[in-house]
Amino acid sequence: MPDMDGIEVCQQLKNNQQWHHIPVIIVTALSDKEDLARCLDAGADDFISKPINSMELRARVRSMLRIKSQYDRIQDTMQLREEMMQTIVHDLRNPLIGITLGCDSLKALDISERGKQRIEQMGKTIEQMRFLIDDILTIGRIEAKKLVLNFTAIDIVEMARSIIADFESIILSKKLQLLGEFPTEPNYISGDTHLIRRVLNNLIDNAIKFSPQQSSIIIRIEHLPENPDRQDLIKIQVIDCGIGISPEQKQVIFEKYEVGNIVTGISQIGLGLSFCKMTIEAHHGTISVTNNHPKGSIFTVLLNRMQQ
Ligand code: ADP
Repeated sequence: MPDMDGIEVCQQLKNNQQWHHIPVIIVTALSDKEDLARCLDAGADDFISKPINSMELRARVRSMLRIKSQYDRIQDTMQLREEMMQTIVHDLRNPLIGITLGCDSLKALDISERGKQRIEQMGKTIEQMRFLIDDILTIGRIEAKKLVLNFTAIDIVEMARSIIADFESIILSKKLQLLGEFPTEPNYISGDTHLIRRVLNNLIDNAIKFSPQQSSIIIRIEHLPENPDRQDLIKIQVIDCGIGISPEQKQVIFEKYEVGNIVTGISQIGLGLSFCKMTIEAHHGTISVTNNHPKGSIFTVLLNRMQQ
């Protein structure tokens, strides 16, 4: 071939989302084990040596087609399962609304202070469930490429301040400190207010879950002025002094249902960070995690700054 060899063609096919499922059989004159390994590393599903024997070639194609049709069936089943899960999750909302209304009418009754506190707690748990349901539905919409973002100008400093206020009681009850390090002036991004808030809530929820008592969590916001390679950015960091994340876990925790080390007494579902990653990427931003020193993790979100 004039511009690229067969291995390169195979590599390009396998790196392309649209074409990667097509089975590739490389027909090669190469017999060296290293060359054959190169074919397989390039993503080839099989190879056949020259000179070609037509009977063998047809048999290999038939075998590839059998594997492909099994692959297609698995894909269809997974899609069906995903759609069913989305429907079930969606239908969980209605009973939650009923429970919330029930709690509200209980609050109106003449009951003891202790009873009121219990109802308050129930309300918070219901809210967490509602957030989880909404996050799962958002992940499903992003995956199905059906998410419609409701873009508005968000003053991210103002949003972070109000989130810190929302977390006040849980921070106090866990004997932690939640500190803001912000620029003094407003800093705007263009985004979906509800979803960006959910991302920050998820990151802070995690920082709280995995931090020891008496430690501090910092939300830092910085404006990174433009340079020749890129436009103005807003950097948002959630910094904790908690259990930290190992290099192996850093590779996987942004994937669905991936959890790190299991910590007794802490709920770990493995959906929060995949929600954050998908949402931030839908806003053309990035999210990453690094170590905090001497202990803990730093989650960093970069988003384009909106010019005012
Ligand atoms: P969940 O918290 O429900 O497990 P996430 O997707 O938010 O789901 O997080 C996945 C995993 O990443 C967690 O189970 C935990 O092991 C790890 N992780 C996330 N945030 C932190 C953090 N701040 N410190 C330590 N580990 C974390």
